[in-house]
Amino acid sequence: KEAVTAAGWRLRIYMPYGELVPGMAYLVRRLLENSSNDSFLRAGFVKHVPPAVLLAAPGPAASVDAAADDTAVAAGPLAATGFHNEPLADFSVDASRRCMQEAVERLAARFAAGPVAIPRVIDGQRVESGETFSRHDPSDHDRVIAHVAAATPADALRAVKVALQALPAWQGLGWGRRADILEKAAGIMRRRRSELAAIEVFEVGKPWREADADVAEAIDFCCYYAHEARRLGQPARVDLPGEENTTEWLPRGVAVVIAPWNFPLAILAGMTTAALVTGNTVVMKPAEQSSLTGLRLHELLLEAGVPPAALAFLPGRGEELGPTLVSHPDTAVVAFTGSRAVGMAIHAQAAAASAAAGSRQVKRVIAEMGGKNAIIVDDDADLDEAVVAVVQSAFGFQGQKCSACSRVVVLDRVHDAFVRRLSEAVKSLRVGPAAEPGTRVGPLVDAEALDRVRSFIDVGRRTAREVAAVDVGPLAGRGWFVGPHLFTDVDPAGPLGQEEIFGPVLAVFRVSDFRQAVELVNGTPYGLTAGVFSRSPSHLHEAAAALQAGNIYLNRGITGALVRRQPFGGYRMSGSGSKAGGPEYLQQFLVARTVTENTLRRGFAPPRRAE
Ligand code: NAD
Repeated sequence: KEAVTAAGWRLRIYMPYGELVPGMAYLVRRLLENSSNDSFLRAGFVKHVPPAVLLAAPGPAASVDAAADDTAVAAGPLAATGFHNEPLADFSVDASRRCMQEAVERLAARFAAGPVAIPRVIDGQRVESGETFSRHDPSDHDRVIAHVAAATPADALRAVKVALQALPAWQGLGWGRRADILEKAAGIMRRRRSELAAIEVFEVGKPWREADADVAEAIDFCCYYAHEARRLGQPARVDLPGEENTTEWLPRGVAVVIAPWNFPLAILAGMTTAALVTGNTVVMKPAEQSSLTGLRLHELLLEAGVPPAALAFLPGRGEELGPTLVSHPDTAVVAFTGSRAVGMAIHAQAAAASAAAGSRQVKRVIAEMGGKNAIIVDDDADLDEAVVAVVQSAFGFQGQKCSACSRVVVLDRVHDAFVRRLSEAVKSLRVGPAAEPGTRVGPLVDAEALDRVRSFIDVGRRTAREVAAVDVGPLAGRGWFVGPHLFTDVDPAGPLGQEEIFGPVLAVFRVSDFRQAVELVNGTPYGLTAGVFSRSPSHLHEAAAALQAGNIYLNRGITGALVRRQPFGGYRMSGSGSKAGGPEYLQQFLVARTVTENTLRRGFAPPRRAE
């Protein structure tokens, strides 16, 4: 210390306070941060980046590494495209917290006056008659959110007919105007952000932060797809002497959008706006559990300028409406996100309808399905970081994310220490109503989900070792609550090792080496997300090359993909589309047409006179 200060350098002293081992871990982490590849120390002393560059205000994509290579702050591809991810709300700021609290209170008062009537809307006409079903607040059974006027197969037929007629006008509007409408929709979402987030809190039991993130993602989809549409709207030309070639993208026709409830705004908005901006008309079917969020999306898209005939809203039961919409000879695209069972049934129905006599098109099915995602914890991993990320990935939104971590594969040497820390972290999670800002784990979406998750917990108790189980106490009588559960000694081939649980149940597996860990992770039919915590560059490299998943995360949690930065979607039994929020997504809603002209004319014909 004296030598450094005597040399005229400023010195900062870290003074960990408390127990020795966690204190040392803290100190080591600070040292690792200071010596990391991204640290200003390395950039300054090893790569000789000038101080002016190091001290410049960071742009959205400024990177010290890029700066070191280019000796200028990289503008980065984000700045070049003009697209930026919508920042998430920071609820540690008073104003953000108050804004959300007020929205929650306003909505609670609204529901106290009675449930919202959800109509089906075809060609702008609202219909509330016929069979209805009720939606209850998952945190509180007694609060009825909505009465939903369930659409029928006859409604589905009418909606497709109207959408087919609306195609030419919507297509004729052009790429730029349709992109403008999406950007306007994003603006409306921004303005009504806390109201939309509050609806999710009550309708599907999303804790505040998760609900806010879902609205932010919906805004991102609108802006990103608008941006991509402007790019695709430019015909691609390849001209040679004597020959001109133009390739342009055309809409496929009527698109059916079938969405899940777990990202009730973002996923519905993503699929719908992608179909619309590419010039297709849309029949939109939200999940039964999130019809109110779906209705608000429908309203705001119409407010932004989508013609009522180009976008029908059909709330209702999937098994009743699905087959009519999917098999209809006039529907060209089915964009589905949901469970593997329904996704595969849709694939089969669409294939049969395409092959049927008289069919005039092969339907395009985009099906994003489930996952059985895993994180590997290597024996040199920073366990503190791994615990935090595993908890967030496994129990965020109660584990009801397609990307959620439901398996942790831990190397033998650190297994016991990791499980000890993880189980303490799990036991500390606060379970509560989604409307309360301090809630980390809210309720499950409905009674069916609760039964299913409980049956997996029973299997776990019979076949594995339960190391943490959070009791929800009196909440159990109020809403669809189940506490986080952690099991070890799980059979990788059994239900807890193979089936998507979609709830706060996490299975831990012990392996003796890294290769075995990778094999275990790959040992399910799914391929959605996977992650690794390791300090070994060779293991990180091996994982990135060998893990069979659409999104692989190294040394971070495995949920929370951002539009454009982490285009999202899996393969194998997790999905058949190209990645949502990525540069190839919109092409799925389009067909390409190439026009080739021989321009070596042999003389000109005079323009014909109008007859
Ligand atoms: P689900 O399959 O039960 O329902 C999804 C939608 O399909 C709903 O709108 C439902 O009404 C409809 N549906 C139901 N039966 C149908 C049928 N026979 N024909 C046509 N449509 C029908 O799924 P869910 O419970 O709403 O959502 C959870 C599932 O979604 C999980 O498996 C999760 O992993 C998956 N998911 C995947 C992604 C992804 O990007 N890969 C994202 C979110 C959710």
